[in-house]
Amino acid sequence: MALMIHDTLSGEKRAFKPRDPSRVTLYVCGPTVYNYAHIGNARPVVVFDVLFRLLRRLYGDEAVIYARNITDVDDKINGKAADEGVDISVITDRFTAVYEADMAALGALSPTIQPRATKHIDQMLDQIGRLVQAGCAYAAEGHVLFDTTSFPDYGKLSKRSLDDMVAGARVEVAPYKKNAADFVLWKPSKPGEPVWGSPWGPGRPGWHIECSAMIEAVLGLPIDIHGGGHDLTFPHHENEIAQGRCATHGGEYARYWMHNGFLTMDAEKMSKSLGNVLLVHELVEKWPGEVIRWALLSGHYRAPLNWTDELLEQAKASLDRLYGVIQDAERLALPKFSLMNVEDLIAKIGFEEAVGDDLNTPKAMSELFTLTNGVRSELLKGGKADLQSVSDQVQALKACAGVLGFLQADAKAWFTSGASDDLKSKIEGLLVERTAARAGKDWAAADRIRDELNALGVEVLDGKDGASWRFKG
Ligand code: AMP
Ligand code: ZN
Repeated sequence: MALMIHDTLSGEKRAFKPRDPSRVTLYVCGPTVYNYAHIGNARPVVVFDVLFRLLRRLYGDEAVIYARNITDVDDKINGKAADEGVDISVITDRFTAVYEADMAALGALSPTIQPRATKHIDQMLDQIGRLVQAGCAYAAEGHVLFDTTSFPDYGKLSKRSLDDMVAGARVEVAPYKKNAADFVLWKPSKPGEPVWGSPWGPGRPGWHIECSAMIEAVLGLPIDIHGGGHDLTFPHHENEIAQGRCATHGGEYARYWMHNGFLTMDAEKMSKSLGNVLLVHELVEKWPGEVIRWALLSGHYRAPLNWTDELLEQAKASLDRLYGVIQDAERLALPKFSLMNVEDLIAKIGFEEAVGDDLNTPKAMSELFTLTNGVRSELLKGGKADLQSVSDQVQALKACAGVLGFLQADAKAWFTSGASDDLKSKIEGLLVERTAARAGKDWAAADRIRDELNALGVEVLDGKDGASWRFKG
């Protein structure tokens, strides 16, 4: 199958060709760990997790190296540590653990490498040194700044001219800058902040140099794909390119750039500064992680996605339908699937074409229903159903869904997971009583128990391994 990627730099959809198919490299800007992640922050994580899974399917699990950094030196971290009167590592360790647990709950695989900024200060200093030597950076009043006029391609990624950037309010004006658009590579620390020694005086790195130095250190330049949210295009990624290319004397930096659109609520970008955030940590208490993941992938990653309760309810209903088909099929004594048939089935539907078309997840998700329709119509044949065909189609469904990170749970567990332990044991007890009543041909008792289960919203499924149950949708 072919993979087409919309590349922000060229502005075109291009066929993906890794530099070395036995070592495919992907880097995504990770979190600043001082607070809980909101669901907007989870969008790039889930989108690039799909890309990671797809690349692994195409090139093999071992061939794909995915790095996502942890920014553990930052003003907001310092502020929080000062508020709580603790070392910054207390804050960064706490929120790194929360972040990892929350993203795992959304079915995101761990990246191959999670470099931490504070562990790569030497590599940052090394890259800054090379930039100064190449005449692309200068020291001034304890700072080191990147000279944006030294890099003719500055602005190509975000399609801005230097004049636009200066006119925009986002560049900091400071007397020690040669040009208004120049940005900080190294700066003095304020009292109480973390500090490292450097040839230009004690201080700490700027945010942008963290990523370009970690990429060079853990993946090597150039990398194949660099991803992140749309808001990082300028200045963060523009500055990364300038640093990475100038430090390697004009060499290539990232071969494809991918940016996800914003998650919005009531048409406004979800962001901490606007205060309209829903935390992943809280959402996973109310909804299965897989439902949240489905909602996140239900729109194309480059388009804005408006987050609503209905979106989650629809996601739940879609997953119930898919798991329902699997559960119905697995009640039968299915033969082992044939891998060849499974691959043939996958080739016949439009799944790979959709997911390979710049990660068209909504289309790819709709193709999962094409497979369930085939299973359903076979199951309707009752005793005449072709069980080999059912088995192969269910397997094809799970394999395709797996590329998106769906349907990997046990179908039975899916339908019972919302129940409390008390309710579960009550239902299991009634099922045992019903089985005994039926064995003793006490049909009146069996019917009464079924009514009782019905009243609890439970559907009883008789199958090859006895009776199981699920909540009625
Ligand atoms: P931050 O913690 O703000 O640096 O964001 C971490 C990641 O989440 C970055 O890749 C951002 O681009 C992304 N991000 C932040 N807010 C949103 C949003 N509302 N929708 C989509 N992505 C976002
Ligand atoms: Zn970054």
